[in-house]
Amino acid sequence: MQKGKIGVTSENIFPIIKKFLYSDHEIFLREIVSNAVDATHKMSAVAASGEFKGELGDTTVRIAVNKDAKTITISDHGVGMTSEEVEKYINQIAFSSAGDFMEKYKDNIDAIIGHFGLGFYSSFMVSEKVEIITKSYKEGSKAVKWSCDGSPEFTMEETEKADFGTDIILYIDKDNEDFLEDSKINQLLTKYCKFLPVPIAFGKEQEWKESKMVDTGKDKIINNTKPAWTKKPVDLKEEDYNDFYHELYPGLEDPLFHIHLNVDYPFNLTGILYFPKIKNNIEIQKNKIQLYCNQVYVTDSVEGIVPEFLTLMHGVLDSPDIPLNVSRSYLQSDSNVKKISSHITKKVADRLGEIFTEKRKEFEEKWDSLKLFIEYGMLSDEKFYDRAKGFLLLKNTEGNYFTIEEYEKLIKENQTDKNKSLVYLYATNKQTQFSYIEAAKDKGYDVLLMDGQLDVHLVNLLEQKFESSRFVRVDSDVVSKLIPKEEESNIDLSTDERNELIHLFKAVTPKENHFLIEFENLGEQARPMIITQSEFMRRMKDMGGMSGMNFYGDMPDSYNLVVNTSHPLVKKVLAQEQKSLGTKLKAIRDEKLPLVNEKSALEKEKSGKKDEEIPQATKDKLDDLNKQITELSNKENNQLEAFGKDHKLTKQLVDLALLANNMLKGEDLNRFVARSIELIK
Ligand code: ADP
Ligand code: MG
Repeated sequence: MQKGKIGVTSENIFPIIKKFLYSDHEIFLREIVSNAVDATHKMSAVAASGEFKGELGDTTVRIAVNKDAKTITISDHGVGMTSEEVEKYINQIAFSSAGDFMEKYKDNIDAIIGHFGLGFYSSFMVSEKVEIITKSYKEGSKAVKWSCDGSPEFTMEETEKADFGTDIILYIDKDNEDFLEDSKINQLLTKYCKFLPVPIAFGKEQEWKESKMVDTGKDKIINNTKPAWTKKPVDLKEEDYNDFYHELYPGLEDPLFHIHLNVDYPFNLTGILYFPKIKNNIEIQKNKIQLYCNQVYVTDSVEGIVPEFLTLMHGVLDSPDIPLNVSRSYLQSDSNVKKISSHITKKVADRLGEIFTEKRKEFEEKWDSLKLFIEYGMLSDEKFYDRAKGFLLLKNTEGNYFTIEEYEKLIKENQTDKNKSLVYLYATNKQTQFSYIEAAKDKGYDVLLMDGQLDVHLVNLLEQKFESSRFVRVDSDVVSKLIPKEEESNIDLSTDERNELIHLFKAVTPKENHFLIEFENLGEQARPMIITQSEFMRRMKDMGGMSGMNFYGDMPDSYNLVVNTSHPLVKKVLAQEQKSLGTKLKAIRDEKLPLVNEKSALEKEKSGKKDEEIPQATKDKLDDLNKQITELSNKENNQLEAFGKDHKLTKQLVDLALLANNMLKGEDLNRFVARSIELIK
């Protein structure tokens, strides 16, 4: 029997493996099984080359648990090792400057393990003793038994083994006995080994016999050795892609589209990505893209490896160039990994472009579900924006889809304003903005529907990207002003009349929001009064609400109350007010007029002079005049407001406008109903 010490620096390694790797110790199974798979592959290669003449036999890798002996045994029928090879590959782990490296990375055990191929030694995370019983396929080889109890000392001796291949026997330590449960092993195999290229057997198939489930003689193979992504796209049907999707994520709906990736330059990458039909956030978070290295599962936290917006996708990526077993920060800094990210972006865009050109109808049908990905991509990745702008679809309120180019053509003629700026009208809610949409359509305008989660952001982005264009929500102004064509003012109200209406209506608008009263001649057919919210105000509030910058979000909403000056009811309000207040107001104005005249005379005198040149008496007089004028104006306005408050028609008109905007609620709504009944009676 030979005794020895493992490598030079293993004194440092073992304690690190045992202690620090604690969080991720389940990977031992992946490491040992993938070594078995590697050895099996090498064996096939040796056989194929003709170097080995015998029978290859059954290449299944077998996992067996012995609960009494507290062992897990992983057996393969691969190349095996001669005693020299055990010495070389197991004992003398070839790392020259390992001491330094370990010091540097001792907090990052993943990096050490990956860097040095410490895969095999990860078995010591869960074992008090590990044995290797191996026999090389090479002619005349003797079987070797290697044993190590977790200290740097090992023993090696000759042993008996019928066939070539390797058995790794793990003597599971006290703290890790849960790994001896079949269910635990099954769980790990499903996670890490589900798509390994060599059959992996654990346990036996069961059958129903004499009213209970019993083992059959047949091995239970836990993996699919030829997952869809390893096949050629021409050999796969839509159905096969969907089946594979369901194999990956049981219980989800069919995906929208798939993308089969197959890259061999400048790095190797295969995989299938799916655009899922997202129903809720939980599904996005639960089902992620899985990363494989030669069919061995590595991780499902792919952030940094694929562009952020693609993390919403589902599927698998497999690349031998993605190092197995390293930490995520190491992965992200890897230059191959960076290339992979931009390459995937390109592929995804290309594929979407292809689907768009070849199957426009299907693309449109799925657009509403698909657009979240595409908009997210365009918003977060400049390059993707450029690639996707050809197939980004805009949907109008009638449910028709247009590319950016098509839409521009559609509206160019009708929706260019007097400054040659193209106006894209949009609605965010077909129900609540119904009357505005209709008004715009009546005018021959087209209205986009922007009701997706990211659409507000998209509107901002497109506005930056499009030249001399702007986006205007349909309810941000009266229809005649949405797309200003030429200056026109045909409001036949005197200044006094304007003031009268402003104060009448102001008296009855809700106090919790800010209302600016404006006048428009909208024609007798239009409504007497319309409420709009300016594009700017609303966007500020929307953005504030979304980004958590609550400055604008917390401000009271500010609206425009547009009074249609040609509407008979508005005229009626004015007439009734004048009939009732006419004489009183005239008296106040008659009193005010000479004061106003005097004031403007004094101001004229004052103008052009420096402050010190103006006599104190003049200044005092002006102050006095201002005070008097303000008092009189207040008196006038108070009369108007008092009238407005009691005037049913005034109140009714404002309430109708509020109602049309879904802004009349609770007690106010109740009063409105009561008042309506009274007015009809
Ligand atoms: P890596 O797999 O990255 O090379 P490991 O520590 O996992 O590193 O394994 C070290 C070496 O031990 C392997 O490269 C291989 O030569 C040898 N080895 C491990 N397991 C087996 C096995 N089951 N059959 C044959 N050789 C093996
Ligand atoms: Mg290995």
